[in-house]
Amino acid sequence: MENAQLLAIAKEYGSPVYVYDSAKIVSQYNRLTTAFKKVKQLKLNYAVKALSNIAILKLINSLGAGLDTVSIQEVKLGILAGVAPEHIIFTPNGVSLEEIEEVAAMGVQINIDNLSILEQFGTKHPNIPVCVRVNPHVMAGGNSKISVGHIDSKFGISVHQIPHILRIVANTGMTINGIHMHTGSDILDIDVFIYASEILFDAATNFKDLDFIDFGSGFKVAYKEGDIATNIEEFGEKLTKRFNKFCKDYGKDLVLGFEPGKFLVSEAGFFLAKVNVIKQTTSTVFAGVDTGFNHLIRPMFYDSHHEIINVSKPNGKERFYSVVGYICETDTFATNRRIREITEGDIVAFKNAGAYCFSMASNYNSRYRPAEVLWHNGKAHLIRKRETFDDLIQNQIDVDITVAETV
Ligand SMILES: *Cc1c(COP(=O)(O)O)cnc(C)c1O
Repeated sequence: MENAQLLAIAKEYGSPVYVYDSAKIVSQYNRLTTAFKKVKQLKLNYAVKALSNIAILKLINSLGAGLDTVSIQEVKLGILAGVAPEHIIFTPNGVSLEEIEEVAAMGVQINIDNLSILEQFGTKHPNIPVCVRVNPHVMAGGNSKISVGHIDSKFGISVHQIPHILRIVANTGMTINGIHMHTGSDILDIDVFIYASEILFDAATNFKDLDFIDFGSGFKVAYKEGDIATNIEEFGEKLTKRFNKFCKDYGKDLVLGFEPGKFLVSEAGFFLAKVNVIKQTTSTVFAGVDTGFNHLIRPMFYDSHHEIINVSKPNGKERFYSVVGYICETDTFATNRRIREITEGDIVAFKNAGAYCFSMASNYNSRYRPAEVLWHNGKAHLIRKRETFDDLIQNQIDVDITVAETV
């Protein structure tokens, strides 16, 4: 998006505000489907938790993708957005049997990731086919906060427990129609991913009624210059070849599934904030913005790097800034970052603000969550209003509490 468009949005809708460029989401979707065009049946289920505004869900659904969901509330959002239940997969972790049953009754594909629930569900509902989430015990990517396929991870049923799954299937008469893995958030090395896939293929041969194999996600996008992003084209070529061979051996054309979140929406997002104050200290120059980790937690939570640009003055000379939020505790977005000279009142943009940004926002410090705007076909569409004071107090109950005076 161009600076002038971003500035006009900040002017019209105020700051801070999230902006999403629909064209970028569409082009990322097309890149992924093109990379896998030689797979007979490809199914992309967008991971709703990355960015769950219903306008985004509608956009992605109109491209032909389904949804990957982790809570019944996400399922309901998807249905509200017009997504058919059969295009939704439910991949929760640690939720109750009741929630899984409720989602299954809506006609959504269930993906179960532990033996206890698998046995209980299969005993009660042997006629509802389920997918199983397998943990291949492969560490894809180096950050343990976002790697969920390794040995100590709480996710998935260990690949070593396949015999136990088979026993549950035999005892209950249930059907396993899909097998799934999701190794983490970073496919840094395609060969490591292919290695994990081999383990999944190997596990898959144990199940005779499969309709699909779901490889989860982990597509990495660049957050700054020089970052390694997943080479989707090379990845597509390698996995397609291997998958097609598997289908031939299996004797059936299965659906190849993915659940991209970050890949589809990260780079489409810009988070606009206004610089309230420039504060020169003995050691650095702080640029204090009208937002904080209540609205964008990734830098503080994951040490994530988000590029920051001065959209008000894109041609000024570069200086070094520490960009900090307005929350009353340490709230650092960036340290010693080269940014075009900032004056108070300027609008800065945080890039890669599409995935896990608004969806992780809170009301900490009793601030309102920001507005969201979708830039689509050359026009700005408000897709979420900024919260108001009424939103903050809506569920609070004002009871009469007093403490008697003590002497
Ligand atoms: C979060 C999640 C995804 C999406 O991961 P990204 O890194 O955003 O692509 C996919 N599948 C499951 C099961 C998830 O929990």
